[in-house]
Amino acid sequence: MKEKRASELIENVCCPVKSEQCLFRNCVNCADKRVTFFPYSEDIFQYKKWDTVVEQKVNSKSNDDQVVKSKVTKKNEASDKTSDFLDGFHNVMTQHMAHLGRVEHQKEASKEIQENISPEDLLVMADWSENYQCKCAEEVQSVHFGGSRSEVSLHTGIAIRKENRETFCTISSHKEHGPISIFAHLKPTLERSVLEDTKNISSFHE
Ligand SMILES: [Zn+2]
Repeated sequence: MKEKRASELIENVCCPVKSEQCLFRNCVNCADKRVTFFPYSEDIFQYKKWDTVVEQKVNSKSNDDQVVKSKVTKKNEASDKTSDFLDGFHNVMTQHMAHLGRVEHQKEASKEIQENISPEDLLVMADWSENYQCKCAEEVQSVHFGGSRSEVSLHTGIAIRKENRETFCTISSHKEHGPISIFAHLKPTLERSVLEDTKNISSFHE
């Protein structure tokens, strides 16, 4: 393909002025557009792709050869039938565009709520940061062993009322990012000062 960036790929399969419908592939004018690939005659296509895998290692520094698990993201060699690779690429791209469509939709919805926010509304915009690895000012050598360094989840966001707003960040060693975890992280935020008059909240937008 001639495009160098993901944004160029997306521009080239959407209308010149792209809408949410283009990104969701529901637009009658561009839904059938696909990325153009240079001719490729081989049956098998070789490429590199990022994979996240859980690796187990024995911590030789521990007294009982403790096994530690760690998530590692690596670029791996891969190969597929060329037609399967192209179909897979198209599917990944469609999913990514739908994600961008949802982001656009949320931005618009959030803008509308902020413009018309009432004293009874609470708008919370939050998302996960990447997991962070902890570091001590002074560390014993065994901490450098892969997998023995602790990781934490950060959940960052902003809570908006009509009269005030407050940014927040919660931290936990629990690394699940599902809906239950989101509300566990939001609980202290919902109890904080910006929300002291929570009794008056009738609408919660997230
Ligand atoms: Zn379109």
